[in-house]
Amino acid sequence: LVDRSILERNLAAMQTWADSREVTLRPHAKTHKSPAIGRRQIELGAAGLTVATLAEAEAMDAAGLGDLFVAYPPVGPWRLARLGNLMERAKVTVAAGSVDDVVSLSGLGARLGREVGFRWEVDSGLGRLGTGPGDPTVAAVSRATEQSWTRFEGLFTHAGHAYRAASTEEMDAIGRREGEAVVETAERLRDGGIPVEVVSVGSTPTARSAARVSGVTEIRPGTYVFHDATQVTLGVAELGDCAQTVLATVVGRPASDRVVVDAGSKALPAENPSGRAAGFGLVVGRPDHSVERLFEEHAVIRALSGSDLRIGQRIRIIPNHACTTTSLHARINMVEHDHLRQVLPIEGRDWRGIPNRERR
Ligand code: PLP
Repeated sequence: LVDRSILERNLAAMQTWADSREVTLRPHAKTHKSPAIGRRQIELGAAGLTVATLAEAEAMDAAGLGDLFVAYPPVGPWRLARLGNLMERAKVTVAAGSVDDVVSLSGLGARLGREVGFRWEVDSGLGRLGTGPGDPTVAAVSRATEQSWTRFEGLFTHAGHAYRAASTEEMDAIGRREGEAVVETAERLRDGGIPVEVVSVGSTPTARSAARVSGVTEIRPGTYVFHDATQVTLGVAELGDCAQTVLATVVGRPASDRVVVDAGSKALPAENPSGRAAGFGLVVGRPDHSVERLFEEHAVIRALSGSDLRIGQRIRIIPNHACTTTSLHARINMVEHDHLRQVLPIEGRDWRGIPNRERR
């Protein structure tokens, strides 16, 4: 379920904040994978969308949301072929974190007969992809910009390690460092005569602290649309900010302190991104209940002081990770004050729905 009024409030809050800082908002659509929600983000003022997968990109483009940053390396012939298809219709910029990535994009550009825009990934501490701030990035981008049929647009980074911060202070410090890493590197590139248009940062916990660094031009939070139990644990959101819940039915009450519901790991992600959550989700309205164990089709909820829940009763669970929850479900049931208002297919997770060149 997604509560529409909470969703709308979250969308508006981030857009208002971005506007007040005069930074562009390019939300990461991997959280909702839904063109209907992507459209609301654009209507409210987002400059375009970020995506991770080509299925997300194709679903957004098919809905007319064709200004996309594909924040994933263009590795593999199938990715390049689908990027090429997409580029015939949409305005697409692609992530690159190695010179090999840019060589691949150069080949694609030559085939298409036009330049392919790329953004270089700076590793501001996550330790996933990209090159370190300063010298390593300056050296790599200098080589990357020698590739024909490509256009270097700027730098991006994602401080996902903020999810493991031990305190709000540490989280904000990671955000500041995230912003400084790209701003300082962009300055070095400009000093060397390489123009840098876009300086992009963002995760939900760090979008604001990173964007306070002057010189940042864009933020890319994703999870903020729904928030989740992890954001609550981190102090980034409150319970009332969580728009997405998993609706579950009590299927067993085998002991006074044990409730079993029909939402296992195929409905609720078995993740704990911060390492700090007490279980696998928060039971709405019952702070003393904890989602202790997940099986595929069952969740075991522990209620230490006993539970009033009855077999057949429905409860809502705020998952630990909103984005993975979306990818586990086929549709979003949009609710308002407990009434179902709309059923939205999650088009961006369905690779079979790809509108290919022939079908268009
Ligand atoms: N940008 C990139 C490259 C990401 O990988 C992610 C999340 O994984 C985001 C932005 C959005 O971060 P969050 O999910 O914290 O909103």
